[in-house]
This record gives sequence, C-alpha cells and structure tokens, in this order.
Amino acid sequence: MDERERAVVQSVPTGLYIGGEWREAASGARFVVEDPATGEEIATVADASEADARAAVDAAVAMQPAWAATAPRERGEILRRAFEAILEAQDDLALLMTLEMGKPVAESRAEVAYAAEFFRWFAEEAVRIRGDFYISPDAATRVLTTRQPVGPSYLITPWNFPLAMGTRKVGPALAAGCTVILKPAEQTPLCSLALASILERAGLPGGVLNVVTTEHPGPISDVIIEHPGLRKLSFTGSTEVGSLLMRKASSGLLRLSMELGGNAPLIVFEDADLDKAVAGAVFAKMRNGGEACTSANRIFVHRSIAEEFAGRLAAALSALKVARGTEPGANVGPLIDHDALAKVSGLVDDAVARGGRVMTGGARTGERGYFYAPTVLFDVPTTARVFREEIFGPVAPVYPFDDDDEAIRLANDTTYGLVGYIFTESLKRAVRTIEALETGMVGVNQGLVSNAAAPFGGVKRSGFGREGGFEGIHEYLSVKYAALNLG
Ligand code: NAP
Repeated sequence: MDERERAVVQSVPTGLYIGGEWREAASGARFVVEDPATGEEIATVADASEADARAAVDAAVAMQPAWAATAPRERGEILRRAFEAILEAQDDLALLMTLEMGKPVAESRAEVAYAAEFFRWFAEEAVRIRGDFYISPDAATRVLTTRQPVGPSYLITPWNFPLAMGTRKVGPALAAGCTVILKPAEQTPLCSLALASILERAGLPGGVLNVVTTEHPGPISDVIIEHPGLRKLSFTGSTEVGSLLMRKASSGLLRLSMELGGNAPLIVFEDADLDKAVAGAVFAKMRNGGEACTSANRIFVHRSIAEEFAGRLAAALSALKVARGTEPGANVGPLIDHDALAKVSGLVDDAVARGGRVMTGGARTGERGYFYAPTVLFDVPTTARVFREEIFGPVAPVYPFDDDDEAIRLANDTTYGLVGYIFTESLKRAVRTIEALETGMVGVNQGLVSNAAAPFGGVKRSGFGREGGFEGIHEYLSVKYAALNLG
C-alpha cells in the first residue's frame, strides 16, 4: 500500500459498532482483510463473538420504540445528511472499496454514487408512508389502515458491492423506523464500518444501527436470528446460504427479504442494433468484473449474427485492461479470492472439454493476485456446467438460437430468475419477451437495471422481496388495520 492508501484504510474504525460505541470483540479476536490484487493484508477488524452478537441485538431491540417514534422527517434528514457525506467522501470510499474488494477505482466511484442514492431516495420516502381510510361495503364500519415499522432487522450483505448492498437495506429500514444489525461479508467489512461512522456523524442515535464484523457468520447469525426481539432478516448472497437462513428464520417466523444468485440471459434478436447490443453485453457481463448477481451469464444470439457478434464481443473484451484496481486505466480487477479463481477456471475448462471454443481469454493472468482474463466462449453445449452455474467472473458464453421461442425457452431454462436483457428494435417482440421471461427484472436495449428509484429483485431461486423503488420501504413496514364502528 502507498501512503494515501494506508491513510484511507487507517481512517476507518475497525471495532464493532454496538449501541453507539466502538468496541473490541469480547474475546479480543480480530481477523485479516486482504487486498485481492496482491493477497497482502490491509487491515484487521474485530471478530465478533456470540456475546457481541447478543449485545448488538439487545441494543437494536432497546432502541426500537424510540426510533419508531422519531419523526419521519428527522429520520429522513439523517439519511439525507449521510447521503451528502458519502458523496463528499467519494474518493476515499472508492479507494477503500478497491483496496478490499478489487474493482477498478472508476467502478468503485460509480458504486459509491449508486450507494448514496439509496439514502437520498429513502430520505424522500421516509415522509411518504401512507395508510388508507374507507367505508366497508356494507357501510357498517370504517376501515382504517396504517403502516408501522416491522421492528429490529438483521441485514446480511455480500462482498461484491460492499457499500451499495448495505445502503440498499439500511436506507429503507431506517426510513421505515426499524433499528438494524448489519453484518457485512468478511472479505469487505471496511466499507460498512466507514458507513456506520458516516451515519454516526450524520446524527443517527446510538443503537439504531449496529455493525458486527465476523469470520464466523454461522454461529453469530444463529444468536441474532434466535433472539426473541428480532423481527426481520434481509439477506443478499448465495441461494444456498439464503435457503439455509430461511430455515433458521422459520422458528421465529421472521419477515424475510431474499436477494439471491442469478444466471442472467441476454438475448440478441436478429433485428437488434448490433453496436448497442455489443456495448450492452460488455456492460452487462463486465460490470464488477462479472462478479455481480446481474451479470449476463448466458448470451443468446440469433444464429444469423451469432458468430459476428461473438467476434465483436471478443474484440471488445480483449481490449480491456486487467490490472490492480488502483492502476490508471484499469478496466478489470482481480477476482475476490483463490476459490473464486478456481471456480471460474474450472467452469471454462469444463466448457472447453465439452467442445467449447475460446474466442479470447480462457486463462488466469498476472503473477500474483486472483486475475482471470476476460473470456468469450462459443459453441458451448448447454450441458456444460457454465450454462447452469452462476459464473461470477469475466466469462461470456455465446449460444446461437434459431427462433424467438427457442431463445425464451433457453433463457428460462435455469433455476434462477433475477434479470434478463434483451436487444431488439421491435416493440412487439420486446413486450412479448418481457412478459415471457421468468425474471424479476428485464433490461431492454441496455445492460444495466440497477437504479435506486426502481424495484430490484428476483423470482424463482433468485429470491423474493424488492430493494429500491417505491416498493423498497414496504419490506420494512407492516400494515395495521383498525375497524371503526361509528354506529
Ligand atoms: P454468500 O457466501 O452467500 O455470503 C453472503 C453473506 O452471507 C456474507 O455476509 C457471508 O458472510 C454470509 N454468510 C455465509 N454463510 C453464512 C451462514 N451460514 N449464516 C449466516 N451468514 C452467512 O455469498 P457471497 O459469495 O458473499 O456473494 C455472492 C452471492 O451473492 C452470489 O450468489 C450473488 O449472486 C449474490 N448476490 C445477489 C444480489 C441480489 O441482489 N440478488 C446482489 C449481490 C450478490 P461471510 O462473508 O463471512 O462468509
């Protein structure tokens, strides 16, 4: 690390944030955070014990009534101040994110802005929580409805978007009047700690947000989930862990939001604008180096243009600069760790062994760190592992199709259902395909759907619940109905 990098890392508190205080773990344990571009240690952070987890939920439960009673405008103002503070710190937060997660600084800057947007959006939504009042059909009663905070919420986030996955949950929860316990991924705890520090300075009362960092997510989460005062679990991560947590949350009948894995199809119809489609595919595939739940993992192209498309995609991907994210001009950073690199290599090797053709890439690159070259595969059979498994890396398999029905059948031939992308100049075809895709979101002639003002979420094994948009705050609200007898 150079001097500036060290200064940015050292500006972040590395203890647990519980009840408005920064403290060491009860056991005194700490764990190491490393830079995936070099494998070097950049910091250590407190490793929460079960006693710390209990203290964090106790703090959230104790603060719930006061936070729910805080005026919505005040809750919104705190989020609004934090939104501004995040943008003021954009350069430092971006560098911090690149150091712990690896993505190029330009992408980290974009994520910081995206993350901040959730606070602005939910600052605005905090004052628009509405109920209803109407006459029952038999005119005997009046129906009054209101919305109240669900209560203390446990928020678990992954490493791939270290700041935005946090603000996307913390923003609506705080706006709704819920207190929270945030548990970031062990590879990327620093952004969440920096976020807690920003919220503290923005005036968030102690105990409303509690952050536990840990290397032992299972036992720590068990303590939190089993606490009788907890009301909600919101999880972003793999389908496997999400389904395990659902089982655990069933004993306390917790409200759930599940943002899980994806295996996004991207369909290029024969009438597509090819320049737009190639640019969209590059973005949908390469954002976050392919380490995104929204990443285009199966690119279906009409047979008449498939080979040309694959060639142009290969040219675009091979022009990307793969380097440590702090290097000027870096387009693609390292994968998160050794396991991720082994998984991506294994998927490509399997595809090649089954007859797939490598049009560019196809191997790891760099002497240290976990870099993999942007890769385009062609002629891969749908029996290959890469067709079924979430890739989470810079690998783009292109599959030809013959007609619209086949494209839709192939696109839906997955257990996941997060997002799909389509490229066509025909409105009729676009609407038909939007309706036929078994996904929670569709990008039409664009490779990006993420937007704080839109409801993000999936169907099938990509989970349920929505983050962002008008829907996002409802994940943290319960409807209460009162029957009024005016007779
Ligand atoms: P992961 O292994 O499921 O981890 C996600 C989070 O769960 C981390 O904080 C992790 O902590 C924690 N965790 C792991 N095992 C746990 C357990 N037994 N009990 C409680 N918590 C546990 O997923 P990941 O590899 O970090 O993230 C990639 C996955 O996230 C992909 O499948 C991706 O598609 C998905 N994702 C989905 C969305 C969406 O909105 N749909 C967005 C981004 C990512 P540790 O880090 O300590 O293991």
